[in-house]
Amino acid sequence: MTTLAIIGFGIAGRSLLYTLAKEKKKYSQIYIFHSDDFAFPCTKHSTAIVAPRGVTAGLSALGDLLMDGFNHFSEHVENDVPLGVKKITQYSAATERLGPFKKRYPHGHESLTVGPLHLLDKTYLITERAFMIDPVIYQDWLYSSSKNLPIIDINEFVTQMEKKDQIILTTHSQQKITVDEVVVSAGVYTRFLQGPVKSKPVQGSYLSFKDINLKSDSFSLTLDGDNIVYHADQKILLLGSTSIEAGHELAPMNDLKNIYERLCQKTQMTLPPISEADIFVGLREKAPKRLPYLMSDEKIHFLGGYYKNGFTLALKMAKSLSHRLLGPV
Ligand SMILES: Cc1cc2nc3c(=O)[nH]c(=O)nc-3n(C[C@H](O)[C@H](O)[C@H](O)COP(=O)(O)OP(=O)(O)OC[C@H]3O[C@@H](n4cnc5c(N)ncnc54)[C@H](O)[C@@H]3O)c2cc1C
Repeated sequence: MTTLAIIGFGIAGRSLLYTLAKEKKKYSQIYIFHSDDFAFPCTKHSTAIVAPRGVTAGLSALGDLLMDGFNHFSEHVENDVPLGVKKITQYSAATERLGPFKKRYPHGHESLTVGPLHLLDKTYLITERAFMIDPVIYQDWLYSSSKNLPIIDINEFVTQMEKKDQIILTTHSQQKITVDEVVVSAGVYTRFLQGPVKSKPVQGSYLSFKDINLKSDSFSLTLDGDNIVYHADQKILLLGSTSIEAGHELAPMNDLKNIYERLCQKTQMTLPPISEADIFVGLREKAPKRLPYLMSDEKIHFLGGYYKNGFTLALKMAKSLSHRLLGPV
């Protein structure tokens, strides 16, 4: 029987494992490689909200994929009831550059409040249904739902892939594993494994405040491009997020400070000083035109480019790849 290696244990790798398990794909062994030490997963530092965000079907390949991905994820939530996923309201609001905003969101209205927040100025506002994901709980759920597969978990960084009759993988500690097929779903680090797509690393970061009681349900608000995410059950408030083309994880403190000041002013929230916030940084993989990719070089498959909406795209794209692997069951 066939052996498979998956390089990457973020949302891309785990959504693939879950899909293979659900579709009952039969492998004699599946090796899953990952390394938080050498390649910290973006997934663990994601704000992890998914919403349609005004995307209309039929206008672009990316728009169609995002819509499909969101609808597919909604069905997954209804049917499979995953842990770590909650329905919330996504508010999107603007006080400036209203022309393009209203074009994207034609069905809004003017308001002085958003959920529990009182805005300084009258704001054009729309609401959408959305999902708030706890990345760690949801990822663990995906993995525990895949346990019927013959998985060997290898906490090692793959440094080399050699194509012969089979594929020989070498890790940083010189372990060698030979397999029939490989999926590279290594996020921003795919570029170190001869990924076929010219992707760029883009850093995102946000502030996280503990013990915040807004006396409301969980929600997500995007206001003039800045984001507030409120986790009511954990009393955690996230403010962000930045997007900087950079391959390092040093937080851009000036940008975060500006976001903090803008949001405190516009929403009239009184928050603890910025020095009390925890700071999280992650590296996203931005492929050309922000289009996710699935490319195969014989028995090596490259899957990724999840810049935004990683959680919905990963499941949708995993399904496409699963149909390519081993064919229909
Ligand atoms: C601040 C921020 C906010 C975000 N907000 C959202 C949001 O609200 N909604 C949303 O849907 N998305 C959001 N995203 C994007 C989302 O987090 C990403 O699209 C997603 O996490 C990418 O997952 P991935 O599995 O492709 O990569 P990763 O999570 O980075 O996983 C890569 C995996 O590959 C492993 N790896 C890499 N190279 C090797 C190697 N050579 N050998 C072994 N293992 C290797 C790593 O150890 C890791 O396990 C956000 C991202 C950031 C940074």
